Amino acid sequence: MINRRKLLKTLATVPFVGSFIGLQELGAKNIGTNTVAAKLERDFFKELGLRTFINAAGTYTSMTGSLMPEEVTQAISYGASEYVNLDDLQDKVGERIAELLSCEYATVTSGCFGAMSIAMAGVLCGDDPKKVKQLPRTEGWANEVIIQEGHQIGYAQALTNVGAKVVLVKTAKELEKAISKKTALLWYLNANTENGAIRWEEFVALGKKHNIPTFIDCAADVPPVSNLFRFTKMGFDMVAFSGGKGLRGPQSAGLLLGKRKYIEAARMHTPPRGETIGRGMKVNKEEVLGMLVALEMYLQKDHDKEWKLWEDQIDLISNSAKSVAGVSTEIHVPKHANHVPSLRIRWDQNKVKITPNEARKQLREGHPSIQTVGNNESIGITTWMMVPGQERIVAKRLQEILKSAT
Ligand SMILES: *Cc1c(COP(=O)(O)O)cnc(C)c1O
Repeated sequence: MINRRKLLKTLATVPFVGSFIGLQELGAKNIGTNTVAAKLERDFFKELGLRTFINAAGTYTSMTGSLMPEEVTQAISYGASEYVNLDDLQDKVGERIAELLSCEYATVTSGCFGAMSIAMAGVLCGDDPKKVKQLPRTEGWANEVIIQEGHQIGYAQALTNVGAKVVLVKTAKELEKAISKKTALLWYLNANTENGAIRWEEFVALGKKHNIPTFIDCAADVPPVSNLFRFTKMGFDMVAFSGGKGLRGPQSAGLLLGKRKYIEAARMHTPPRGETIGRGMKVNKEEVLGMLVALEMYLQKDHDKEWKLWEDQIDLISNSAKSVAGVSTEIHVPKHANHVPSLRIRWDQNKVKITPNEARKQLREGHPSIQTVGNNESIGITTWMMVPGQERIVAKRLQEILKSAT
């Protein structure tokens, strides 16, 4: 049977129109399987009775995040085959990442949520080992974290889990009024920038004015690559990214960047140290190396070329859907977080007699299975988490489903 590499190579040379019959002959149903499965003796997900799918949705934890480049999985395999001192490894990798990203210091965390928890824990306890053992009991300490109301989403649980109390404010004036000797941290959610009255620079300035550290959650904020540098430079004391979203590192890893003092305090809560709130947020050599190499790969990437690929893929799917009478599409790029070309597809249900949810179900249950986002108004698609070539299958399946409902 033709291997996947060859298939994708072949696909790249096949023009879009009329390529679908060829695809099926090539065994297109295998294109939904993972990149290395074809090379391995065992197909683990299949053995477990699990279906893999084409990810036309985006970076979702429930869909296991992103796919890692081979260089990253090699780094993970390398890590799995040698011993090293864990703290020494984190020290060295922290220095290396700080150098790559021109910031003071860095550490690899168990994800953005994990970065938030250990950063908060570090702020609460400073370098006091007695306090470290006490978390999440913080009565009588400076334990309040101030958040703009429009930035308050479920992920603030990462802060309250370690003993912080959330104080919500709407304006800069309210924020200044809320500051007291109980204030430990000012927390900013980049994704919700448009929902808050206080913007980055002003937020940082307020922190500096009152001598309170600032943290920005940038979990889903690459691309653009510039965000990896922008917020530490702007003066946020701590900046966190998910490792397994746009960076395509391990889904169980993330980055905490910023001031050495806060990152060192955060690390007091992480393994190998026990009796800490962060003992369960372990990252081992495999994630640490995987994260470093994912970051290196991401920085080396031709971002313009990748963007153009995403635009072309989205255009392809959009045009394919629009070829069905009654269907309309809209291409948009979210301003903050998941900043990638994204497609929304709607139709006149008098002409195309299927609901978006039913169409999504058919995509999901078809061969190969295709995951999208949406509701009963529209279907949402992004291509950045696909293996290049899969956009053709998505375009074809979507067109088939919509057409058969006319
Ligand atoms: C995904 C996400 C997180 C959690 O990140 P993990 O790396 O999955 O721990 C936190 N905040 C925001 C805004 C996110 O999008």
